[in-house]
Amino acid sequence: MTSATLKPLILSPEATATHCPYCAFQCGMTLSGDGDGDVAIAGNAAFPVNRGALCVKGWTAAATLGHPERLTTPLVRDNDGALREGSWDEALDRVVSAFRSVQERHGNDAVGIFGGGSLTNEKSYLLGKFARVALRTANIDYNGRFCMSSAAAAGIRSFGIDRGLPFPVADIARAEVVFLMGDNPAETMPPLMQYFDEQRAHGGRLVVADPRLTPTAQRADLHLRLIPGTDAALVNGLLHILIRDGMVDVEYLAERTEGFDRVKAEVTTYWPERVERITGVPEAELTRAAHLLGTAKSAMILTGRGAEQQSQGVNNVSACINLALALGLVGKANSGYGCLTGQGNGQGGREHGQKADQLPGYRRIDDPAARRHVAAVWGVDEASLPGPGKSAYELLDCLGRPDTDESKGVRALLVMGSNVAVSAPHLNNVAERLGALDFLVVCDFFLSETAALADVVLPSAQWAEEAGTMTNLEGRVIRRRKACDPPAGVRDDVAVICELARRLGKGRHFEYGSVEEIFEELGRASAGGPADYSGISYSKIDANDGVFWPCPDAGHPGTPRLFTDGFPTASGRARMFPVRHGEPAETPDENYPLFLTTGRNLSQYQSGTQTRRITELTEISREPLAEVHPSTARRYSLRDGDAVRLATRRGQADFRLKVTRGIREDTVFVPFHWGGRQAANRLTNPALDPTSRMPEFKVCAARIESVTDVHCQA
Ligand code: SF4
Repeated sequence: MTSATLKPLILSPEATATHCPYCAFQCGMTLSGDGDGDVAIAGNAAFPVNRGALCVKGWTAAATLGHPERLTTPLVRDNDGALREGSWDEALDRVVSAFRSVQERHGNDAVGIFGGGSLTNEKSYLLGKFARVALRTANIDYNGRFCMSSAAAAGIRSFGIDRGLPFPVADIARAEVVFLMGDNPAETMPPLMQYFDEQRAHGGRLVVADPRLTPTAQRADLHLRLIPGTDAALVNGLLHILIRDGMVDVEYLAERTEGFDRVKAEVTTYWPERVERITGVPEAELTRAAHLLGTAKSAMILTGRGAEQQSQGVNNVSACINLALALGLVGKANSGYGCLTGQGNGQGGREHGQKADQLPGYRRIDDPAARRHVAAVWGVDEASLPGPGKSAYELLDCLGRPDTDESKGVRALLVMGSNVAVSAPHLNNVAERLGALDFLVVCDFFLSETAALADVVLPSAQWAEEAGTMTNLEGRVIRRRKACDPPAGVRDDVAVICELARRLGKGRHFEYGSVEEIFEELGRASAGGPADYSGISYSKIDANDGVFWPCPDAGHPGTPRLFTDGFPTASGRARMFPVRHGEPAETPDENYPLFLTTGRNLSQYQSGTQTRRITELTEISREPLAEVHPSTARRYSLRDGDAVRLATRRGQADFRLKVTRGIREDTVFVPFHWGGRQAANRLTNPALDPTSRMPEFKVCAARIESVTDVHCQA
């Protein structure tokens, strides 16, 4: 089943320049081999983003390539319920016949697709096209919905476009003040910190808002330790002080924005004493933060998942955008608002059509002009394109449910590049729904927790074995270059999608001579859309260390900085929206007296499918630790290292305790990279933001249920 006989990797001694498989920083690295299976990784000093630096995940990334648990043959589930090895023909036939049978009985939308924010642009594009052209299902969404969707929705409604950072990361180093809300790059993206270090060395100031004293917050000049779920109140409070003290940019507001009067009326009620009561941040700290921002000649406001992964994530980001606009920062040098995207291709993955409501080029699927344009590129009848489908959690929640007049369940699901059995909220429900499916097929390179539940598992090629493009957190399109062949028996996802389409009778729409041809078609499909890639080519990327979109024609140099002249909105002005603080979907009460918040740590990545299999990384963090304050530990008579069971209204999970002064007394933090009994997402709340459909990963009510002898291994 796995690769006990995996041959050594054959890599040329000549270095291949590519990028790290993990986060959105997409560090440039080179791979070379000695012919005996040893792979040398080096940071690529010539790539201008990481400038040679890598974090521990990047340095150890090659360990997944020749890993003994690597899947090298398709797996099919037998009548006795066990997974066994099968041929590609058998596995693909099973998939096609299951999809056909489900669609005949329940309609096209009864087959769903769940993609991922780590897939290349070409795969994201192809998966969206496969859903709409080969399966003609509306139901495709992806795990990026759990990642950047709140920032994306807020960005689109205010700026008319969503590009995580509308400026290169190098601008951070030249900003006088950076206000970082709910992000911890010192652990999640360590090479990014070189720009913060440079900024500090130039005399700049860093303000961090986070319920935890994270390694990033430890480097800040000012740490605002807010109560989880009070982000919008905090930011409204800062804007209140800035207006009160005459520090907003009146001229900029008049010339470049609309809606300030309504925002001003709303924040009038966020006087500092009230904001201190809501957020737990002392009035003096609020004033200091506001004045740092208000007196700076250049400043940036950056958000991460802490503010975004809430049922009010869009409001939280909108409050930050209001602040940036009121200070006249957006579109000015070394200033602005940005979101630090998380997943490897979190940016590109949300642009090319694997979202339920979207066509390539960041077009809306319900826009008639967009449908016409994309249908023409795909050579299909515009009327044949489905409409919007269900968002990620709603898609998972409908799996295997019976058809009713109001809604129809999805009966067969293809998962590519995602491990929803660890990464989705309210896992007990998700596991039940996956179990209710008629058919589940998973493409992965390891037997992930989701793959282990599948009827068919298709072994995928990995990052260093495939070609394509990624779009980093700056909107810079870069090349993922192939450094070696996949192991015998493994196929590239691109080939799998095209072969499935052929077997479904739609092969003529999926005939490509190379991955570059897919990229060229993606460019044509995106032409004229918000994320216009039509002027980008592989050779142009090679010649320029990447190209920033939008890039609408071959002669266009790309757009490193957005909004310098205006905004792509109807009026050309940025739109401001009043934001009212509301409580999270759950707050502590006598049964569940603590806040629970979740996040990432230094040595693991997302659901841990790759990183939990790398010895050097598991030695750094062997298991998830639940962080509590010493006074909380005393209240429960707990000590550092004790095993505890945490419980919420949705389930229980077991962790070892880490007692630290770096967390609020009312809050527990757990990282979410593990599955089984140690899965943080057994606890999290699937309450959704009404606009972005982002689940509330970052806030729910929990209790420490018992000290347990249950051993904590997943
Ligand atoms: Fe760079 Fe992110 Fe990879 Fe670390 S995980 S090496 S920060 S791309």
